Amino acid sequence: MITRNPYIANLKAGYLFPEISKRRREYAAAHPDAKIISLGVGNTTEPILPHINAGLIEGARKLGTKEGYSGYQDEGMAQLREKISSVFYQGKFSIDEVFISDGAKCDIGRLQILFGADVKIAVQDPSYPVYVDGSVLTGAAGGWEGTGYKGITYLPCTAENNFFPNLDLIPQNSLIYFCSPNNPTGAVADRAQLTKLVDAAISKQCIIIFDAAYSEFIRDKNLPKTIYEIDKADTCAIEVNSFSKPAGFTGVRLGWSIVPKAIKFAGGESVNADWNRIAGTIFNGASNIAQEGGLAALDDIGLKEIRKLTDFYLGNAKLIRDALIKRGIKCIGGDNSPYIWAHFPGRDSWEVFAEILEKCQVVTTPGAGFGPAGQGFIRFSAFGHRADVEEACGRLEKL
Ligand SMILES: *Cc1c(COP(=O)(O)O)cnc(C)c1O
Repeated sequence: MITRNPYIANLKAGYLFPEISKRRREYAAAHPDAKIISLGVGNTTEPILPHINAGLIEGARKLGTKEGYSGYQDEGMAQLREKISSVFYQGKFSIDEVFISDGAKCDIGRLQILFGADVKIAVQDPSYPVYVDGSVLTGAAGGWEGTGYKGITYLPCTAENNFFPNLDLIPQNSLIYFCSPNNPTGAVADRAQLTKLVDAAISKQCIIIFDAAYSEFIRDKNLPKTIYEIDKADTCAIEVNSFSKPAGFTGVRLGWSIVPKAIKFAGGESVNADWNRIAGTIFNGASNIAQEGGLAALDDIGLKEIRKLTDFYLGNAKLIRDALIKRGIKCIGGDNSPYIWAHFPGRDSWEVFAEILEKCQVVTTPGAGFGPAGQGFIRFSAFGHRADVEEACGRLEKL
C-alpha cells in the first residue's frame, strides 16, 4: 500500500468551513423549524450584473463560431492582461508580468510550489486559511505544535496593535503573506503601514504575497488599493487579486497575479521566469468564457456594475456593524471591506459561535478558526441577500 502524504497528515483537524457546515447541519437536524441565516462564509449571493453577464454569454457564443473560437491561452488573453494593467496599475506592468488565473486561492496554492518546502513563512494572525494550510501541504510548515504550525511565524493582529502586526517579528528571508483589506478582520492597512511593510521586506530580503481580493471594497480615497502604490513594492511583492468578490465570479473562477520582473531570488534568478514555467507546467489557463466576462467587467459599464455590487455588500456590512454596536459589541471592519470582526473579550470563539446559532439562528465564523490571535472574535460576513441580513440583524438583539 502507498503511505499517506506526510504533509497532509500534518494538517490539523478539518478545514474551518466544513466544520462550520457540520455544526450548522447538526443544529438544523435538532431544530427542524429554525430558519437559519448564514453570515458565515465569504461566498457571494447576488446575481452577476447584466453587462458583465453579457460578456460571459458573448464568450460562450464566440466559442461556437469559426472566427471566435479559441483554445489554450496559457497566461491569459493579452487584451485582458493589458486591461488589468491599465485599470488597476496605471499601465505600470507589461503583459508578461500579469498572469490570468482561475482565482486567487488557486494561484496562492501554485505560488506555494514556486517557493517550495524550504521557505520560511510569516503570516498575519488571524489569516485566510490557504496561506497556512497551503504551506503545510507543500512542507514549508511542519506539524501542529501548541497553538500554531512549526515553521510559521505568526504576526498577531489584535485590538492592541490596531490589527497591524509588529513587523520586527518577521524573520530574515521569509515569504510574507499579507491581506488588505483583510479577511477576516476587515482592517485595511494605510499608506504609512504598507510603506513600513515594504521597507521591512526589503531590509529583511523577504518577498510579500499581497492578497488584494477585496481592494474594490475600499471607499476611503486615502487607503491604498494595491501594494504597488508603495515605492519599490515592485522589487519585493507579488500581488494576487480576483474577480470573485467584486464581480460575483466566485463560481465563474477568474483572477490574476502580478509577478514583477524586478523580483529576484537570492541567486539572482528571476521569480517571474520561474512562475511562467510553473504556470505552463501545472496550469493551462483560465476559462476563455470567464476571461470575456472579465473584459466586460473592466470597461466603463462593467466598472460601474462592480461599484454597484460592492456598494450593495457594503450596505449589508453597515447594517451588521450598526446592529452589533447597538448591542455594545466592539467591532472593526465593514467600512472598506465586507467583513466585520466582532470582539467578545475573554470568550472562546466557538462558544460564542454556538451561542449566536442557538439564540439567533445565525451562522457566523469563529475567529479562532483563522489563527490563534482570532480567539475571542467572531467574523460576520456581509455576503447575503438584503432581507436575510435585515432579519439576522433584528435577531442579534437577542444577544
Ligand atoms: C475570497 C478570497 C479570495 C478569492 O479567491 P478566489 O479563488 O479568487 O475565488 C482570495 N483571498 C481572500 C482573502 C479571499 O477572502
